[in-house]
Amino acid sequence: MAARPLSTPAAIDSDRYALDGNSLAGLLEELFEVEMTSAMRVCQSCGRSDRIGAHRAYLGAGVVLRCPACRDVAMVISLQGDRRRVWLAGEWTLQTPAR
Ligand SMILES: [Zn+2]
Repeated sequence: MAARPLSTPAAIDSDRYALDGNSLAGLLEELFEVEMTSAMRVCQSCGRSDRIGAHRAYLGAGVVLRCPACRDVAMVISLQGDRRRVWLAGEWTLQTPAR
């Protein structure tokens, strides 16, 4: 069994609080102005490549998206005043229409 990344609290090992990453489709499209659930991400911890929609989403004071394999953090969205702050980890690959 692989070691759990240090940034992953034990409670995150449970699926109890997780939503499917596809549930963030509207929010992600609002932020990036492209459909994001089919975008790919390579995890900085385990190296696995997954669609963003396959990640696990946790909602609270903000949004945390985690790797579906090792649960390390892929994205954090927090609200600061009237602005959103987005933090990304790993290698994200987006495809946008050429204009
Ligand atoms: Zn991972």
